[in-house]
Amino acid sequence: MNTRNVSHTRLPHLTLTLASKSPARLATLRNAGIHANVQVSGVDEEEVLRNIQATPTRQVMALASAKSRAVARNLHTPTDFVIGCDSMFEFDGVVYGKPHSPENARERLLAMSGKTGILHTGHCLVHVGSGKSLAGVSHARVTFAPFSAEFIDAYIATGEPIEVAGSFTADGLGGSFIDNIEGDYHGVVGISLPLLRQLMEGFGLSLTQLWEPPFEPEYGTLSDEAATLLATKSKRGHRNADGFMLCSCGHTHWGMNGAGGILAFREHFELGEDKAHDVGKQRERGSLNEQEHFASHTTLDKATTNHTEHRLNHENHHGPELQVLLQLRSLWSHSGGTWGFPGGAVNWSETPWEGASREFEEETSISPSILKPVGEYVLDHNDWQYSTFVAQCPDGVEAIKDKESSELRWVNIDDVETLPLLPSFATSWSMLKEKFIL
Ligand SMILES: [Zn+2]
Repeated sequence: MNTRNVSHTRLPHLTLTLASKSPARLATLRNAGIHANVQVSGVDEEEVLRNIQATPTRQVMALASAKSRAVARNLHTPTDFVIGCDSMFEFDGVVYGKPHSPENARERLLAMSGKTGILHTGHCLVHVGSGKSLAGVSHARVTFAPFSAEFIDAYIATGEPIEVAGSFTADGLGGSFIDNIEGDYHGVVGISLPLLRQLMEGFGLSLTQLWEPPFEPEYGTLSDEAATLLATKSKRGHRNADGFMLCSCGHTHWGMNGAGGILAFREHFELGEDKAHDVGKQRERGSLNEQEHFASHTTLDKATTNHTEHRLNHENHHGPELQVLLQLRSLWSHSGGTWGFPGGAVNWSETPWEGASREFEEETSISPSILKPVGEYVLDHNDWQYSTFVAQCPDGVEAIKDKESSELRWVNIDDVETLPLLPSFATSWSMLKEKFIL
């Protein structure tokens, strides 16, 4: 029999603060051996939701993130992690939070009787020392028994349904009228324990490290990454939708509201050194209008409609060379040292194009207003999407890098695969090349 190769030391204990006043969430944690502190965020939920596109996932993620980060920034009691949660009930395509009044609760309970809806619960786990966060959503289908008018009267009279998402609780008086739950029960109660475990694992840690005595964390050795995280004391806190998302595909992705980027391409005409120099000087003086420049040096319609001609030109080294603008990611950044294209997290108030454009401009100094979008490809992982916009850039426009990049380079499309690529870009490249460029 093999001996397990672990050193016989306990993993370090870690503490958790719950950014919610929900007694059901606290009780769920306590029953699972986690004696969390409670600190309420005071976040204005209406304000947070004002500019957010109203998918249930985005709403619960935005609120969970706002609550946990607000508490992490202003902790009353020192703690290692803060968890924020928010639940919404989706029924007949409409999203419901708390009913706040007996009248609203009655109306909703009447509608829900004998039917099925989906309870979405967003979770955001913040490591206080580093400010890093990892978020995830649990979804559960909840089927109700038929409610009699007498039950609804009696239930509303208890007060229980008034201040809970979806006008019901699974762990209280409403529990006996739930016929079936498809998904995690604790997510319906308000905090998904298996999701919390996965979020801890996403940081390289174990949920057993949150257990309070008499329970002890499991034996084991921290990974270098987890040890570094726990030792980090940084003032840096993520803003907006910056942060990692634990996706249903099992991976973590950057951008709680999804992410987007622009794969810019151009038809590059070889200019003599003098001419290139002149163009550069004209741009500096602002005498060459970028739109005019676009018109004079590119043939977008021909490039996108007459593929055969283009390929021929390309192969014979006549005419323009087709290039894409790639970014060598700075070593300190995620997947540093690999090549990708400019992009990043989409903020809560932005559309994917707006987010991709803002990131592109920050990272290249090229105004997206001079780009001609020719296609969009969405990688859809349900709770997380990456939108790639393919857009043509006028030849001769200078890209100036910011701190995200070690280098920006216009790369011949046939040379892209010779570079060490960001894994997700490597996966999508052949498809992007096929779909939009050749
Ligand atoms: Zn995914």
